[in-house]
Amino acid sequence: MPTYEYRCEQCAETFETNEHVEEHDTGHPTCPKCGSDQVTRIPGAFFAKTSRKS
Ligand SMILES: [Zn+2]
Repeated sequence: MPTYEYRCEQCAETFETNEHVEEHDTGHPTCPKCGSDQVTRIPGAFFAKTSRKS
């Protein structure tokens, strides 16, 4: 299943989520840190940051 990365507009937390197709259509992820639904998907982040694990 695909993994998407999101950034929270409220607290700038970034997080990844696995989405099923149904969830992608009807649902909206929320920030795991502050619970806000003001999150933006980061396009391509999936590929872009492979070497950044702290
Ligand atoms: Zn947040």
